[in-house]
Amino acid sequence: MRHSLKSRLSSTILIIVLLTVAIISFLANFLINQQFTNYLSKQQELKTQIITSSISQQYSAFTDQWNLDYVHAIGMFSLYEGYIIKVYDKQGAILWDAQAHDMNLCNQIMDEISDRMRIQYPQLNGDFTSVSYALEQSSQEIGSVSISYFGPFFLNENEFQFLRSLNIIIVSVGLLSLLVSLFVGHMLAKRISQPILKTIELTKQIAGGKYEVRLEEKSDTTELQLLISSINHLAESLETLEKLRKQLTEDVAHELRTPITILQSYLEAMTEGIWDASEERLRSCYDEVVRIGTLVGDLESLAKLEQDNLKLDKQRMDLRAVIEQVVSTFAAESMNKKLSISVEGSPIEVLADHSRMKQVVVNLLSNAIKYSGEGCSITFRLFNHKDGAGFLINDNGIGIPKEELPYIFERFYRADKSRNRMTGGTGIGLTIVKSIVQAHGGRVTVDSEQGKGSTFTVYLPKE
Ligand code: ADP
Repeated sequence: MRHSLKSRLSSTILIIVLLTVAIISFLANFLINQQFTNYLSKQQELKTQIITSSISQQYSAFTDQWNLDYVHAIGMFSLYEGYIIKVYDKQGAILWDAQAHDMNLCNQIMDEISDRMRIQYPQLNGDFTSVSYALEQSSQEIGSVSISYFGPFFLNENEFQFLRSLNIIIVSVGLLSLLVSLFVGHMLAKRISQPILKTIELTKQIAGGKYEVRLEEKSDTTELQLLISSINHLAESLETLEKLRKQLTEDVAHELRTPITILQSYLEAMTEGIWDASEERLRSCYDEVVRIGTLVGDLESLAKLEQDNLKLDKQRMDLRAVIEQVVSTFAAESMNKKLSISVEGSPIEVLADHSRMKQVVVNLLSNAIKYSGEGCSITFRLFNHKDGAGFLINDNGIGIPKEELPYIFERFYRADKSRNRMTGGTGIGLTIVKSIVQAHGGRVTVDSEQGKGSTFTVYLPKE
């Protein structure tokens, strides 16, 4: 059975609060009761002492007389407090007896106390007991008093009220915190689940192909904000990918259409006898076929790189030798464009896949040649630092606009498309370079200024 995040959070908060309230109420009740009964027992002892000593004071040794009016007043006062007393003189004769004085009142008070105590403390099993205390004056026994009260302790009306209010307060606080927790839990759960629900809605839209959607929602919860930004980032990446995919189809079609149209019209004219199949025309046809071949070749290499997950056949090799070898294969092209290509730095031994490394150098050098005007110079410089070896290739060609720099390694990305139409680039060369270098655990960076030239640097890790 699945529950929504909101109900999960709300119920968890509710359970925690319920438990806390229950524990606090139980402890408060238990501790208050314990303290209160202690207090009551002590209070009872104190009261019997007060009654005994107040009665003792009503005897005058001088006249051997009792002030019976005061004894009566003390007796009545005690009766209302729940203490039923009988006072005897030293001969044992009754001086004052509450029950004899007003039997009904005594019974009423005793019943009230018993009822109240049985309701409040049913497990106490208390009852009225009588205790006799000697009445003394200057260490002389002058009589005795028998006090009967509800033991082991009892509550008078005020104390009973006090306990009742206390219980009401505890229950109300419990109920109030329960309500507050319900409200706070609901709000909190809503606050957390809302952005998640919105994110889910957004991912559904993305899954349906709407890559341009973004979540504007801001959350002050770090994890939620991270979730929102990663989903936005994901949508952005998918949008770029989708754009690149569309652009690729467009570009491939475009790239293929021109040579195919040329080939078609040439071949048509030649087969229909309008044109002779001169060497010059056949060469043009051949050039167009080569163009198509390059594009297909590039697409193939990229597909292979992605499919193989790049299995490298690493071996020790001299990076400088690889560069020199590639430079020599471009001798004719560099001569045509009157370019000067130089290689600086001493030989460096690296552990790498020879043919892949060669491809990296080929792609970088062919770009440098493609995007440099006549008479420019191209320089390779090898370096060997303590944290990595590699090389850079610098040209003083046309350079790359600053805003295009972040994208040039992206698949099929071609800066300034119009100029690429002339150079015949496919936008795959640098993607291949990046994949190979990364597969070696290295990285490639670019530094370029439009109109001044570019520098690509390849870093390979130390073994
Ligand atoms: P392409 O086949 O179009 O050359 P690449 O992936 O090799 O594709 O390069 C991507 C884009 O980067 C190129 O279209 C070009 O605009 C730019 N670029 C690459 N190398 C250079 C360079 N040395 N000088 C100027 N621009 C360059």
